[in-house]
Amino acid sequence: MRQFMRSLQLRHVDAGSCNACEQELSALLSKEYDIQQYGIDFVASPRHADALLVTGPVTDTMKTALAKVWEAVPRPRRLVAIGDCAAGCGVCQDAYASHGGVASSLESPDLIIRGCPPTPEHILNQLRRLQWKDGNPNI
Ligand code: SF4
Repeated sequence: MRQFMRSLQLRHVDAGSCNACEQELSALLSKEYDIQQYGIDFVASPRHADALLVTGPVTDTMKTALAKVWEAVPRPRRLVAIGDCAAGCGVCQDAYASHGGVASSLESPDLIIRGCPPTPEHILNQLRRLQWKDGNPNI
């Protein structure tokens, strides 16, 4: 089943990040990485997204909002944890307001991109793998 073809539209939610992961995500839109040339882009509405990117350990204040955004992403959909915090193994893992990442707050991510923060090259390569895999059912 071809799900995303060659386009991959992303909605990002900062669920309590220190903002370093966001800086690396922002770099993907720079002319150096130019993520849009691969048919990958960020969208404002979760209803227009193929995948939800989450950064941060999922704090108390973001848990409900994150769940609402995830529910608004139409199926088929993908959940991507960006950075060690979202992966459940970051420096804020045991903080009092942390829910320990995406897996313990929502569900197991389809893709985990480790790093603190992960580099733009690593994020881009992993997103392109997801895009290629979803557009090619034989892989
Ligand atoms: S993984 Fe590192 S860079 Fe990303 S939000 Fe957590 S502490 Fe910040």
